[in-house]
Amino acid sequence: MLFDTHVHLNADQFEEDRAEVIKRAHQAGVTHMVVVGFDEKTIKGALEIAEEYENIYAAVGWHPVDAIDMTEDHLAWLEELAAHPKVVALGEMGLDYHWDKSPKEIQKEVFRKQIRLAKKVKLPIIIHNREASQDIVDILNEEGAAEVGGIMHCFSGSVEIARACLDMNFHISFGGPVTFKNAKKPKEVAIEVPLDRLLIETDCPYLAPHPYRGKRNEPAYVQLVATQIAELKELTLEQLAEQTMNNAKKLFNII
Ligand SMILES: [Zn+2]
Ligand SMILES: [Zn+2]
Repeated sequence: MLFDTHVHLNADQFEEDRAEVIKRAHQAGVTHMVVVGFDEKTIKGALEIAEEYENIYAAVGWHPVDAIDMTEDHLAWLEELAAHPKVVALGEMGLDYHWDKSPKEIQKEVFRKQIRLAKKVKLPIIIHNREASQDIVDILNEEGAAEVGGIMHCFSGSVEIARACLDMNFHISFGGPVTFKNAKKPKEVAIEVPLDRLLIETDCPYLAPHPYRGKRNEPAYVQLVATQIAELKELTLEQLAEQTMNNAKKLFNII
């Protein structure tokens, strides 16, 4: 049984065949998932899916790329949604310096506001980081994010950055890129991360693992990520599956 901790089944790419994709996930042993919403439309989509399926949960937050669009009303809405029985985390949130739609200062402010909200509602946070590792670590530290902890999703940073995040009570989640032949850094980090802080994800429809690289990703493929990590950790697939399932359930407070 596998827990895919980061899916975007709410994305338009799944509009045509969402039910079949979920069925394929179940057939592949992927029993649990968290659908991540990061703006008005995808948050609503995440909640709809989480309400429909038993072991599918939702995370709600505001993406750094769209930080410039987040209003105080949106923040109040996130606070309301935090009480929803299927909402298990806030996010994804963070910093993305690859795209320049939202200026860095606005991204940082929106990130800080969401961390403060998470501490208020006592939910873990899911962090999106693109080309912004040091600023992310600094803000998590300054805002005392260790109090809620959470997930560094689809981690691609260095061993040093991973250690800083582990020290702040965060889990490290690996996605498709860890399976790429040239992925030296994520493999090194995966070896270093303690077993009780390890998570797996697809981030589907993006970042499909080898041999589907470049194609539409789906939760069933999290098995390929799990197989790669099990190999790196010298565990059986079953051991790795059980460990990451327990880690995710504990973090998301799922019985
Ligand atoms: Zn992301
Ligand atoms: Zn994502």
